[in-house]
Amino acid sequence: MSKVPQYAHVILPLAVNGYTYAVPAHLTVQVGSLVCVPLGKTKQHWGIVSALQPNAPQGVTCKEILQVAYPYPLVTPHQLQLWSWLAGYYCCSLGEVFKAAVPTLLQRDTFKPLQVLYVAITGQTRLAKTKQQKAILERYNQLAAKKALLTEPVEVPKLGLLSTPVLKSDLLEGQSVSAFQTLVKNGVLSCFSQESSRLQLADSSVDWPVLSQAQQTALQQINQCFEQKPMVLLHGVTASGKTEIYLQKIKEVVEQGGQVLYLVPEIALTAQLENRLARVLGSKMVAYHSQITDNKRAEIYLNLLQNKGIQVVLGTRSSVFLPFTHLQLVVIDEEHEPSYKQYEPAPRYHAKNAALMMAQMAGAKTLLGSATPSIESYYLAQKGVYAYVSLQERYHQAVLPHIEVIDRQDAFKKNRMKDMFSWYLLDKMRQTLQAGKQVILFQNRRGFSSYVECVACNYIPKCKHCDVSLTYHKKTDKLVCHYCGYSMPMPQTCPSCGAEKLKDRGFGTEKVIEALRNYFPDVKADRLDVDVTRLRTQFEGVIKRFACGETQILVGTQMVAKGLDFDNVGLVGILNADNMMNFPDFRAAERAFQLMVQVSGRAGRRQEQGWVVLQTTQPEHYIIPAVLNQQMEDFYRVELQERQDFMYPPFARIIEVQVRHKQLQLASAVIEKMANQVKKLPDVTVLGPGSALVGKVQTYFVKQFLLKIKGTGTQVRACLMQQMALLKKEVPSAQIIIDVDPL
Ligand code: ADP
Ligand code: ZN
Repeated sequence: MSKVPQYAHVILPLAVNGYTYAVPAHLTVQVGSLVCVPLGKTKQHWGIVSALQPNAPQGVTCKEILQVAYPYPLVTPHQLQLWSWLAGYYCCSLGEVFKAAVPTLLQRDTFKPLQVLYVAITGQTRLAKTKQQKAILERYNQLAAKKALLTEPVEVPKLGLLSTPVLKSDLLEGQSVSAFQTLVKNGVLSCFSQESSRLQLADSSVDWPVLSQAQQTALQQINQCFEQKPMVLLHGVTASGKTEIYLQKIKEVVEQGGQVLYLVPEIALTAQLENRLARVLGSKMVAYHSQITDNKRAEIYLNLLQNKGIQVVLGTRSSVFLPFTHLQLVVIDEEHEPSYKQYEPAPRYHAKNAALMMAQMAGAKTLLGSATPSIESYYLAQKGVYAYVSLQERYHQAVLPHIEVIDRQDAFKKNRMKDMFSWYLLDKMRQTLQAGKQVILFQNRRGFSSYVECVACNYIPKCKHCDVSLTYHKKTDKLVCHYCGYSMPMPQTCPSCGAEKLKDRGFGTEKVIEALRNYFPDVKADRLDVDVTRLRTQFEGVIKRFACGETQILVGTQMVAKGLDFDNVGLVGILNADNMMNFPDFRAAERAFQLMVQVSGRAGRRQEQGWVVLQTTQPEHYIIPAVLNQQMEDFYRVELQERQDFMYPPFARIIEVQVRHKQLQLASAVIEKMANQVKKLPDVTVLGPGSALVGKVQTYFVKQFLLKIKGTGTQVRACLMQQMALLKKEVPSAQIIIDVDPL
């Protein structure tokens, strides 16, 4: 019987949606298969089959698929459905989604499972003559006996006999290699390799936690809500024990044989949680984030695809791309966190949206949690799209911290400021440290100073490539651009007038650490910001030292506000609230509120009440009372009203379009053309085009406009995609960036 001819649409890892190819009769191809196809005259690419059809597209001669990589589809129908939603919603190609979604090693069929060497006894043990050879056999017997208690004997490859092989590396520990080789040569021992796992599979050993009364009530409410609605927003104050509630839900699902995706916004948070989860879940749980190796990534992907035992994935945003087959629950922890949004490269997706969509497609439930819900989620809860459960009591009846507001300007006038510290804060720090408690200091700027300035001519050094002033980093004695990373040595005198030394203005975390050396010379302090934590191990080091009390003061940027749980923090200092509140963005107030409440929440998480000292020059600003009372209702009402008045989310959708080009004129010309097309559409307001807040980045001029859209914006997206394709052909050197729901 001859096969019906088939054609396959193939997604390629490029900025296109893919092409159609003919399936030759000798190949078996399924939707989701990874295939190798020719492209152009000489190139070949690996791609994913997204659809099969009996006919070729009209008027097109299709080339043939060259090769199929795996005997099974590498991508599930649910994944393909999600990809297509992502590409449509976030205005990018399916190829870009493919590149982000499938682990690199699997994309090109280069993943090799780990092979591990084993040793088994296969011959006459009396052939062991020397003392060293006998010692090896003795060790073998010990290891094998231990293992035999746990596992059944296995068949040794090629020899067909049953045995209890041991790891070669274990056996050789402290033994003579040449004696070992002789035993192998004489046929006493036999070596063979077996596929093994790179995942460290721990066994669970600890019991699940017991919930407090308040947690129990919240859990019951969540369960009731899930009977009505698939999405629940859990609004629980800091240290209310949301994690334990998630764990209970996870337990239920795992016991039913289902799968859970537990999303966290930062790798930083996976470390603390990973231990906690592994203790109760053992090998059913893996962590998935940007710092695990390519090999492990591939192995986790395949394990899930083939349903080989992983039931819980604790991961950062890219884990929404994993091939779950039995997904029943998605937990989105710290749902308000902006780091869920991917900015560069495309797909510029929000992991919360992607996860909600994924859950919906799989028929799974979603539990969103936060102490400071995003205004959008809060609004959706008010409208009844999400069910809402509130938990306003801290675990163990710990009380919320006492917050004291200090007017920096006033303190300065009265000579009660020393560097960045008010006297009040210094006193509080002294008391706290003397009582054996720890201090967290929060300053939302890294580096030493904000910028440097010549006292004689007011010259301010700027980045060569970007339109921003440089930040002084004292440790390296360099001026650094926080946009592109450009750095230069700190000049000895002003490069402009040559007269004076440059003086630093404002302060960052590095300067705080230095000032602490003056006021608390004997106290150990650590810094937590991206400069010290580019490596996960370094990050973990800082957290560990603080958690075990080796360091007493932790100085950090917004990283210290992110769901970390320390039990001995008596005081949190917010050194300068102003730069957060004054940032020119419609979300600035929301962000400032969330950051301050979250960082305050790190204080006094156990029996004793913690303290927060909040330093600002605007104590009368409307955010301050909201932070003080930890009362968000009033604050959110004001914010929502403003958003409605000015047509911002959640009352409108926003899309930001940027064009980058080395020539200012070309950047302007391209952005004008795009804007003019979109302006013709109904229900759209175009703000701009104009220069971006930072008008030049890495020698590229940046022009942009902002769209405010009523309705779903389907027409606008289609228009933008079409314009982008056209203009990319017209001006190939222009970079066009479409950012849907930018943050
Ligand atoms: P949240 O995420 O709401 O800020 P956590 O889940 O980190 O709060 O809980 C705060 C602290 O209380 C943690 O140290 C946690 O271990 C502890 N805790 C919460 N619930 C329980 C429980 N049921 N049993 C034991 N300890 C708990
Ligand atoms: Zn720069």
